[in-house]
Amino acid sequence: MNMADLTGLAATPLRGRLRTAAPMSRHVSWRAGGVADRLYIPADSDDLSVFLRGLAPREPLCFVGLGSNLLVRDGGYRGTVILMHSSHAVMRAEGAVIHASAGAACPKLARLAALRQLEGAEFLAGVPGTVGGALAMNAGCYGSQTWEFVRSASTIDRAGTIRERTAGDFEIGYRHVVLRGDSVLGEDEWFIGASFAFAPGDGGRARRRIRELLAQRIATQPLGLPNAGSVFRNPEGDHAARLIEACGLKGVAIGGARISEKHANFIVNPGGKALAADIEALIGHAREAVRVKFGVDLVPEVRIIGQAAAQASSIGAAQERRS
Ligand SMILES: Cc1cc2nc3c(=O)[nH]c(=O)nc-3n(C[C@H](O)[C@H](O)[C@H](O)COP(=O)(O)OP(=O)(O)OC[C@H]3O[C@@H](n4cnc5c(N)ncnc54)[C@H](O)[C@@H]3O)c2cc1C
Repeated sequence: MNMADLTGLAATPLRGRLRTAAPMSRHVSWRAGGVADRLYIPADSDDLSVFLRGLAPREPLCFVGLGSNLLVRDGGYRGTVILMHSSHAVMRAEGAVIHASAGAACPKLARLAALRQLEGAEFLAGVPGTVGGALAMNAGCYGSQTWEFVRSASTIDRAGTIRERTAGDFEIGYRHVVLRGDSVLGEDEWFIGASFAFAPGDGGRARRRIRELLAQRIATQPLGLPNAGSVFRNPEGDHAARLIEACGLKGVAIGGARISEKHANFIVNPGGKALAADIEALIGHAREAVRVKFGVDLVPEVRIIGQAAAQASSIGAAQERRS
């Protein structure tokens, strides 16, 4: 499929950018993984709507923000990635409400809220993803979660139809967001934006809190090395990092991937040479070790898509990296 095919199907010409055989290592924070058959960067929501209408009804689709919670297996993704971060990212404040498009970066949302003398958004300053990713993951830290502040969210479906939804339309939990009803979030419907309500307060205090939270992250997380944040969700009443560390796994490596010495729930790619398979094997290794020692089945927080290299029919990740 190329741009000409798509524009032939659509009444309105596309204004975004379409790429084929797109190396996803450039679009995920782990800096590893295979290629996506197609990658589309929409110009805006209307353009995205036109693009989606032109796709085959069963085309596999994956919306990607900043790829800070995502791994694409070395064999790549047989389908189309919609890259939201590089698309038209807009934010607008209206009193205590901030409207943000899905492609806007969370740290920018936190800073805009503080600038507008609003409090509550500070936790988002250290989440290196987009608003769309934060909505999909219910991203959270330091006692706050994204959906606590969502007044409404806009979604788009495969027919290009845009809907206004409220929290009541979703089942929301710890790193868990699913649509109630027949439509499946991530398969039939995706986020294109949201309105957040924060508390009017002291912007200076919000900025100080942002600085404190970022300093805390720098002290405890391996931010200088490619990573995807916490690999596992914390089990009820415990911390995945504590369990992994207690298994003696800090510093353990498989191929180019290593369990961080600084934070045991982080896997890093220090030389930028790790295969997605190395990272996935290390995830499996940590999970198994914790299961054997503590009888706890850790649930991955990171999302893994695509196919393993052996199954790949075309360019593998290793070849891709050499080119
Ligand atoms: C250093 C570091 C620290 C982190 N700290 C935290 C933290 O404190 N708390 C926390 O919760 N997370 C944290 N993370 C993980 C990550 O930043 C969050 O999960 C973030 O919300 C992911 O956003 P993203 O835009 O990068 O999403 P991506 O990684 O691009 O995607 C993640 C998932 O969301 C889906 N998705 C993305 N955009 C959309 C959309 N528009 N509509 C529907 N689905 C979509 C994707 O398909 C995928 O399944 C951290 C990561 C790093 C690297």
